[in-house]
Amino acid sequence: MIDTNSVIHKLETTHNATDEELLLLMGTDYDASVLFEAADRVRKQVYAGEVYIRGLIEISNHCRNNCLYCGIRASNTNVCRYRLTKEQILGCCAAGYELGFRTFVLQGGEDAAFDDDTMCDIIEAIKAAHPNCAVTLSIGEKSRQSYKRFFDAGADRYLLRHETADEEHYASLHPPKMKLEARKQCLFDLKDIGYQVGSGFMVGSPGQMPGHLLADLRFLQELKPDMIGIGPFISHKDTPFANCANGSVDLTVKLVAILRLLFPHALIPATTALGTIAADGRQRALTAGANVVMPNLSPQSVRELYSLYDNKAHTGAEAAESLAILKKQVSEAGYEVVVARGDVKK
Ligand code: SAM
Repeated sequence: MIDTNSVIHKLETTHNATDEELLLLMGTDYDASVLFEAADRVRKQVYAGEVYIRGLIEISNHCRNNCLYCGIRASNTNVCRYRLTKEQILGCCAAGYELGFRTFVLQGGEDAAFDDDTMCDIIEAIKAAHPNCAVTLSIGEKSRQSYKRFFDAGADRYLLRHETADEEHYASLHPPKMKLEARKQCLFDLKDIGYQVGSGFMVGSPGQMPGHLLADLRFLQELKPDMIGIGPFISHKDTPFANCANGSVDLTVKLVAILRLLFPHALIPATTALGTIAADGRQRALTAGANVVMPNLSPQSVRELYSLYDNKAHTGAEAAESLAILKKQVSEAGYEVVVARGDVKK
């Protein structure tokens, strides 16, 4: 019988654990508050009580891909498709800057209309208008050459979740032409080019087993990302997974804590998905090691349309213009929203 307190102590001091120990911590047979307290100590050692905010701009819901879990998948004909203009994106950044955002995250489906020239033009314009801000991209799988062009245009960071590190599981969540190897190669290319790189996975995606989560943690140890985003899978009514159960909030928060202990320096968001399925989801993640939140800075008119999963939160603390609500929640949890780029501390 393994003693969980000593496993947590080992994880806190060595930032590693055996497979058996990690699986034990993902389970339910112990008092997880000890795990959360350890994660909070480690987070405070590196990042004190600072919480970094990122303005999330959802630039397009057009997507060439058909990920089985995703509401904006190409074959969902019920989606009203939109894409933002360069002027709209710059308008979001200007509004965000006034609110105190110093990082803008441009996220979208894989939309051919945002070709390399268009993206470089937008990145350059944002950096010209806001030279003290970071630009993060999250627009999927591209060639190394495209990633390099975006980087040279001024992009600082890139978010690309690996989704699941198990080949078979990956194949069950994606169409045959999407390959885990290709996604991993993108991540290694991004690192090599010099981006601050974020990866991550969904918790409770259909067919996920504890061993898959272990593979996710081990893959992240190999990649050594600067940012790690995880959130519960949430079903979307127009996808093949419409009737699948949502991921567990408890398990997601435990994994946030485990990630903080494995990766003391990582930037770890309390994600919208977690805030969507539990009213206190974000605060729970913050007290378990998360140190980033990404409120929605997209134009109001398109927020409903970027529907990755049912009932996706985009009001209240999830909305950039309601930053006061978010700041209050963060300070009630014992932390502080700061106006800063919030780069990774190495
Ligand atoms: N197209 C880009 C990409 O593939 O990285 C960025 C956009 S993609 C919609 C952003 C993330 O949404 C994915 O990495 C996935 O983890 C998450 N997502 C999509 N559908 C979801 C669902 N049903 N539940 C939870 N998260 C979901």
